This record gives sequence, structure tokens and C-alpha cells, in this order.
Amino acid sequence: MIRALIGVLIAAIVAAFMRAVIGMISREVSDTLNPKAAAPQPPPSPSQAALRKCPVCGTYSPGDYCSDLCRDKAK
Ligand SMILES: [Zn+2]
Repeated sequence: MIRALIGVLIAAIVAAFMRAVIGMISREVSDTLNPKAAAPQPPPSPSQAALRKCPVCGTYSPGDYCSDLCRDKAK
């Protein structure tokens, strides 16, 4: 009886530990693959003075290009 209880307890602890490890690894992997997704982007403010027109798609943005995609296309 007690052995069964201990078995259930250990299984629960191992399951919780595995979930924590898997969560940590998946967060690490998604940070590595896509570091921009981890950092929250500030919302674009319409009152921003230095907006430039993206030469690739014409979208106005604070940088020279509206996105990395357009910067890559311009190369
Ligand atoms: Zn663009």
C-alpha cells in the first residue's frame, strides 16, 4: 500500500520535473530560432517624427526598411 503511494508520488514528481525541463528547453529553442519574438515590440506610434518609406513595399516605418524581410529583399 505504502509502496504504491510512493510510486504514484515519484511518478507525479518525475512528470512535473519533465514538464519543467521540456518547457525550459522549448523556450530556449524558440528564443534561439526567433530572438525577436522573445522581446516585446513597442507598438508603432503615429506621432513618431522620423518615419521613412520602405523602398521595397512602401510602408512607413522608423527604420530604412519596414522589416527584415524587406531588408533582405533589397539586397
Ligand atoms: Zn517593406
